[in-house]
Amino acid sequence: MNYKINFNENKTKQVEQAVKVLTSWIGEPDSNSTRTFTFLTMQNNSEEIQKLKLENANKLKQLDDFLIFFDKNAVQNEEGEIFLLSVGDRGLANGIYYLHMKLKEYQILDPFSINWHDFQTPHFETRGIVLNFPFRLEGLSTDTWSLSQWKEYLNRIRSFNYTSVEYLMGAWTLFHPDIKELKKDSWQYDLAEEIFQHAAEIGLEIALLVVFNQIHPDLWIKFPEIRATLWGYQGISYCSQKGKELGEKILKYTLNRFKNVPSNSLFAFEGGGCNCEFCRNNIVDLIVKYLELIRETAEPERLFFVTWFANFKENFETPAIKGLRNKLFSKVPKDVKIADVNRKTLQMAADQGYEIFDFIFFIDPEAGMENQAIFPRPHLNLLKERISGSIQEFGLKLKGVFGYRIIPKARFINDYALGRYLWNPEIEVEDLVSEIAGLLSANITEKEQITRAILLLEDFWRNLEKTKLKECKKILKTIIKQQKNVPEPLKSIHEAITILNLLFKYYTHDSKRRKEGILDKIFYLMRDMDTFHCYTTYKFWDVVSREVIKQRVNWWTDPKSGLFNPKSLPWNSLSKAKYHLIDNKKDVLAWMQFSEIVSSAKLLISQKFKNFFRKLLKKS
Ligand SMILES: [Zn+2]
Repeated sequence: MNYKINFNENKTKQVEQAVKVLTSWIGEPDSNSTRTFTFLTMQNNSEEIQKLKLENANKLKQLDDFLIFFDKNAVQNEEGEIFLLSVGDRGLANGIYYLHMKLKEYQILDPFSINWHDFQTPHFETRGIVLNFPFRLEGLSTDTWSLSQWKEYLNRIRSFNYTSVEYLMGAWTLFHPDIKELKKDSWQYDLAEEIFQHAAEIGLEIALLVVFNQIHPDLWIKFPEIRATLWGYQGISYCSQKGKELGEKILKYTLNRFKNVPSNSLFAFEGGGCNCEFCRNNIVDLIVKYLELIRETAEPERLFFVTWFANFKENFETPAIKGLRNKLFSKVPKDVKIADVNRKTLQMAADQGYEIFDFIFFIDPEAGMENQAIFPRPHLNLLKERISGSIQEFGLKLKGVFGYRIIPKARFINDYALGRYLWNPEIEVEDLVSEIAGLLSANITEKEQITRAILLLEDFWRNLEKTKLKECKKILKTIIKQQKNVPEPLKSIHEAITILNLLFKYYTHDSKRRKEGILDKIFYLMRDMDTFHCYTTYKFWDVVSREVIKQRVNWWTDPKSGLFNPKSLPWNSLSKAKYHLIDNKKDVLAWMQFSEIVSSAKLLISQKFKNFFRKLLKKS
């Protein structure tokens, strides 16, 4: 492709990164060319923009908006100027990503061979994704990633037009230079600093997701006296009455350390709500104080509060904290933004005058189930319904949406789908698939095949029909064989589908001998797979690795909690569970056993018995 770029003072790192993505498809620019991309922003070139008198230019209002204009019939051969207009760098970069995506969708290398008349503005101003979960699966989960792996993924997310990453500062990440137990983990903050720097450069906002009363597991072990009484997440939380000093020392250090990174703070109290009498009775005041501490220390542009566990504490825990949400919304400052998965909670918050944000577990379900988060699972139709449902319910009151991404490696399809729906919730599923397939393809035949593969896969997860998965695998295998350099997203999708196909065989076969054979095959295949080498000899001796994989396969295919329990498929669930909008116990999906609640309740009862007998013994 023969073209040059006229940056007009708009050459920033954010724009450069977008250009890199575009040139990866159309080739490098040539300054002698007579065909030009002209990038203009209101920020630097408002006079030039006015002179052009382009239709829709007056619509450019939001930071994300962009306008692309080119009339190929108005120019001679080998000439022409494609105008890309925006408010600032952000919209400019969005426009360049859009050009790249559309060219790939049409599988056209020459942007000057077609007309461009596009004005684009997003439906949601805030489009986020929650990252950094502690699965310790080398290469698969982000907590094991190097800076370059992070950069690659953040670049991808940015090119899908997300605005922000909610970076989970989980218990295992926490660090303070004066605490010797945490010294070994100092690299995590160094790495985070570099990750945040890169995110800022390419136009992604980072929101630190700090969790109420979290403490590093090593300190939880060292100081048994500060431990929270807790449902479900033992080992990571302190009791407000006992561990406040140490906990807040680390929190303050953390917030100060990352103060210079353009970021908001985001805060949840899941996992941190101690269940002792003091904490239960004072939970609302404790949370409000914690929010104040974050605000004073971090001085965030926006402060979010994820309230999802308020519903949990009201409806699932024993004993429940009745009326918790009402109490919270009477005391949490009104300028704090409320994010929740539960529609009733969001409605209560909106009624009280808070800005509300939808929190979607849908692209990766909550409950820490590894199997539910590893394999590609396109939810293109359901995701559209889920988002449309929220828009219908809340309209303009809904200011943004956060997705939940636990293990990103092979989840390209849903990552794109969510980002795209948040930009344009009305896009047809068919058009969405066409865009995704375009991004994963090198030519038009491939694009048609990948389109089919994606649709087959979505279908497989509707009814677990073996032939659909098999055909999807076959298509991907053929494409991979044809390509010399298989691009990363396609490679990991193919590897994951290959294993998924074997898992389904393992699940459906009864013969022990056949099952052993499938296990062997999975073991040998995983050894060579970038996606799954975390389970193999890369980490373990052969014999250990095989055992690890065997246990994994049994867990992943368990008839009740595994991948293929028909009852666990959203389509077969109650309408609320279908979209992971869970209000109470009867809504939960089959794999969400909430077994930890049952075991915690048992623990509590046995403790009460022990205390009772202890007292009895003392008396006698
Ligand atoms: Zn407590």
